[in-house]
Amino acid sequence: MKPLTEQEIRTAFVNCTKGEAKRLAVPRDLAEQPWDDLDFLGWRDPQAPGRAYLATESDGRTVALALRLPATASWQLRRSMCSICMTTHTGGVSLMVAAKAGRAGQQGNSVGAYMCSDLACPLYVRGKGVEGVGARLPESLTVEEKIRRAVVNLAAFIAKVTA
Ligand SMILES: [Zn+2]
Repeated sequence: MKPLTEQEIRTAFVNCTKGEAKRLAVPRDLAEQPWDDLDFLGWRDPQAPGRAYLATESDGRTVALALRLPATASWQLRRSMCSICMTTHTGGVSLMVAAKAGRAGQQGNSVGAYMCSDLACPLYVRGKGVEGVGARLPESLTVEEKIRRAVVNLAAFIAKVTA
């Protein structure tokens, strides 16, 4: 994806208030992100373990989501699979909850998805994930097909948030 600036990211949030989007933690090392290998940029708030964010391109525009991680239950530490990139981790997949955009979100409606806790899905599908963390079930898909599948899965999640 094309590199994003802090300003582009902050103005792209669809499911939080403008004030929140202005204050939330955006990575300081945007210039060093591996943009060529990213279908979306995902990050955790280092000051707030229960918060995560992602930014991507959708229909030619930048869309960013604010995500919450509910407190981890012990059963979540079992091996589980990311619903975006289909990587299986032990303790490395978290439930991420996005408030829905607009009025539905203000009324408390949200959508959840199990995702890699470090939001590094684009790197995992390219085989560039942190070694020893990610494990894949044997698959016959090519890297291109895995990337396309992850992009489709993410687009489906964003569509649920913005529906
Ligand atoms: Zn993933």
